[in-house]
Amino acid sequence: MKELKERILNDGKCFTGGILKVDNFINHQMDPTLMREMAKEFAKRFSSHNINKVLTIEASGIAPAIMMGEELGVPVLFAKKNVPSTMENMLTTEVYSFTKNKSYSVCVSADYLSPNDRVLFIDDFLANGNAAIGIIDLVNKAGAKLEGMGFLIEKGFQDGGEKLRSKGIHVESLAIIDSLDNCTITLR
Ligand code: 5GP
Repeated sequence: MKELKERILNDGKCFTGGILKVDNFINHQMDPTLMREMAKEFAKRFSSHNINKVLTIEASGIAPAIMMGEELGVPVLFAKKNVPSTMENMLTTEVYSFTKNKSYSVCVSADYLSPNDRVLFIDDFLANGNAAIGIIDLVNKAGAKLEGMGFLIEKGFQDGGEKLRSKGIHVESLAIIDSLDNCTITLR
């Protein structure tokens, strides 16, 4: 998606270890106009699916996901990283975090994710696919159907995209980064 790619080139910052910071418009300060355009683009790309719920993972997925839910007119559910003692009918899984280099539990309540749900997962980044694989596990535990997975930015030099596409999942990424070598952003 042209607007996002231009924004990444203008405002994205590379850090050692293959990390791209987009704190100016996605991960800290947020650009709602761009967020809305990205939701419209996902809506087009997933138009062949009959989606009745958007699912994401806190915290950085929530902003794009809520725009997506509004665009589709469906509820938005976010998987929680801190397992609350009061959650009823809890489904949990473990996710390894690339940026934090540790594993954590994520959960959703089966009250909000059930066999009636046809789910679109939305997140900011796809890297090694660990968050996405945790989400697939939660969707399976709930007996829901995964319709697709949409990422604002895919790091094409990590293997998450390959892992998900090889499972036959409909994956859409609005910008794919081919390399962050030498702290230079190379887009596909
Ligand atoms: P994965 O689970 O696919 O390995 O990593 C995806 C998650 O890690 C995303 O939800 C995102 O929060 C974080 N992440 C991975 N790589 C980057 C990166 O280069 N920049 C930022 N800002 N977050 C990243």
